[in-house]
Amino acid sequence: MANIAEKIQQYTLTLPPEVTLVAVSKFHPAESIMEAYNAGQRAFGESRAAELVSKATALPKDIQWHFIGHLQTNKIRQVLPHATLIHSVDSDRLLHAIQTEAQKLGITARILLQVHVAAEETKYGFLPYELLQCAEELLPQLPNIEVRGIMGMATNTDSSERVTTDFIEIHNCAMALQKIMPQASIVSMGMSHDYQIAVAHGATMVRIGTDIFGNRQY
Ligand SMILES: *Cc1c(COP(=O)(O)O)cnc(C)c1O
Repeated sequence: MANIAEKIQQYTLTLPPEVTLVAVSKFHPAESIMEAYNAGQRAFGESRAAELVSKATALPKDIQWHFIGHLQTNKIRQVLPHATLIHSVDSDRLLHAIQTEAQKLGITARILLQVHVAAEETKYGFLPYELLQCAEELLPQLPNIEVRGIMGMATNTDSSERVTTDFIEIHNCAMALQKIMPQASIVSMGMSHDYQIAVAHGATMVRIGTDIFGNRQY
């Protein structure tokens, strides 16, 4: 198996230039992150607030930390100062809470709205029509939030037809959002097992963990 640095080089060579690689380092140690860093990788994804904060504090300051996990309102204050982008904003309630904390900190929070298209009921996110409604009605009232695009996950299935349909739906939702908010140009979709389909259907950001760092030890 290729080592971490070789994996980063492969992705750098094979991903289209307009697609950003977020290396998902959750549950992996600082040494693994530094291997990727030394191969030129700067964007890393974490799913737990405490882990993101401790890694951000200890590791080089030019790393861009992406928060990709489900965000609880009581963790916003910790995460905001360290996160370049929060991918997983999935409710009006969370948006209100992020606005409150961003205002207190005197910053603009950059976020993606998470859209739910997968078959699993357990996945978080706005339904496409809810997401667009939120963009039109709620977001204009939240001056400390900058929506940069959409994040979505496909159904966890062996059916590449279903995965393809899901990514097309996420992309369609992103295009509709861009009509309302032209700056919301990021389409974050695709993980280790399905990123090639995501890229073929318009992803501009992929989130790859296992294929770069190996299996996570929970
Ligand atoms: C863990 C995680 C990933 C990475 O998944 P892999 O299968 O390890 O590539 C991507 N996106 C989200 C939201 C995740 O939680």
